[in-house]
Amino acid sequence: MSVKTYLNFIGGKWLASKTGTTFSSINPANKQVLGRFQVSDAQDIDSAVASAKKAFPNWSSTPAPVRGELLFKFANLLKQEKERLARIVTLEMGKSLTESRGDVQEAIDTALYMAGEGRRLFGHTTPSELPQKFAMTVRRPVGVVGLITPWNFPIAIPAWKIMPALICGNTVVFKPSSDTPLCAVEFVKLLTKAGVPDGVINLVTGSGSEAGTPLIEHPDVRGISFTGSHETGDFILKHAGVKKVGLELGGKNPIIVMDDADLTLAVDGILWGAFGTTGQRCTAASRVIVHEKIKKQLEQRLVAEAQKINREKIGNGLKPTTLMGPLINQAALEKTDRYVFIGKQEGAKLLCGGKPCSGKGSTGFFYEATVFTDVKPTMRIAQEEIFGPVVALIAVKNFDEAVAVANHTAYGLSTAIYTRDMKKAFTAIDQLESGITYINASTIGSECHLPFGGIKGTGNGTREAGIEGINEFSELKTVFIDYSGKLQKAQIDIKYN
Ligand code: NAP
Repeated sequence: MSVKTYLNFIGGKWLASKTGTTFSSINPANKQVLGRFQVSDAQDIDSAVASAKKAFPNWSSTPAPVRGELLFKFANLLKQEKERLARIVTLEMGKSLTESRGDVQEAIDTALYMAGEGRRLFGHTTPSELPQKFAMTVRRPVGVVGLITPWNFPIAIPAWKIMPALICGNTVVFKPSSDTPLCAVEFVKLLTKAGVPDGVINLVTGSGSEAGTPLIEHPDVRGISFTGSHETGDFILKHAGVKKVGLELGGKNPIIVMDDADLTLAVDGILWGAFGTTGQRCTAASRVIVHEKIKKQLEQRLVAEAQKINREKIGNGLKPTTLMGPLINQAALEKTDRYVFIGKQEGAKLLCGGKPCSGKGSTGFFYEATVFTDVKPTMRIAQEEIFGPVVALIAVKNFDEAVAVANHTAYGLSTAIYTRDMKKAFTAIDQLESGITYINASTIGSECHLPFGGIKGTGNGTREAGIEGINEFSELKTVFIDYSGKLQKAQIDIKYN
């Protein structure tokens, strides 16, 4: 079968990179090559940034409701193409088709939300301290923005960034993950079909070091929005210079299960949180902090379900029976296996899983649903992000200890607690150190109109989605209009009693 070569998209044209070389994107379920993509470098980034800079004056002065119309069209195109795109997500990234549909739906929701923002983009009006003086804020775009995305939500995460960037009037250079460039090409094709003008969206594929770094360092780029690992986020913060930088990084998300919890509900939540997307979510539940009174019971029920997954539900994401698809690539498989080895060496007890598997005859990067127990909070498997289907059970004596263990991590993205006690639930909301807390629900399940992001090592204080997405991609300008006809001096002319 002939393999198609895909191009960069710069200034409204599909172009080969200056390097003249390509890389392959493969299906992680069977290692089949899905396409070849441009290996780009600083020269391609220069062209893309120049094209975005050229397009900026027209796009930023296009009325926001008109920009919103384009996003509505884009949302409709996504709806029409939902099934086709979801299949491409599964082919390229590996997750089950049901989850891939969710990935595309999140982009539809985001496009609709941000299209509506075209008729809001609110600033504030507020009284001035002086008479006959009017004070307000208006929103201005940041400028040319560089967007760098991971592979685990290859349609939703680009939408989280591109939709607010466009509605606020920014022009974009988009550098997707090298594991999911086909999803990025399809995304950009639909934007052009919706009528986004030339130069407003530019796509450059290539590696983080060769294409990503020149983008973050580029002097004409005014904003960077990045989702990915803590290590890359740290690098970006050090190299971006004086720019507006948004970082959405990793997590080591705990589910607390108290002795009064609905155990069936908790087990369902743990399975979904730990093994959904094969554990490859920034919000994946990788730690379960369980009250010692119900530890044995929880272990038995969890292991029974995990073993069922391992027997029946690992495979190609296109199969309707699949719950857990492959890991994204060989490196991810090796990393997961290395952490299982480390966990055993540290003295944690492996209850089930713990090795690569065939995925029902497929030849991809499959790994068993893995449960460790007797894990100490300081062990590496309880501290470091594995990004695979591995969950660590930590027993505690009471609620206070559960919260202390939950907070004993460098990350702070998502936390969850299962309890029937309202006092414990509300105290957990107060005390758990995370950007998101779920009560009687798993650590995953964001919605596009609510802020998404974390504290501590998970980011630098920005949030995505909802109105926070607008804040990330706009600058506030403060405006004073003095209609008194005379010089009025703030803080000086005002008469206080
Ligand atoms: P990653 O290795 O950090 O890569 C993310 C993106 O950054 C990719 O496009 C990558 O390009 C690029 N990149 C790598 N090095 C770079 C550099 N030196 N300069 C500029 N760009 C660079 O992360 P990943 O493995 O794709 O994604 C998994 C991580 O993302 C996990 O830690 C997960 O928790 C996190 N994540 C966080 C959120 C959130 O919202 N908090 C959501 C999803 C995922 P290449 O692909 O070419 O290397």
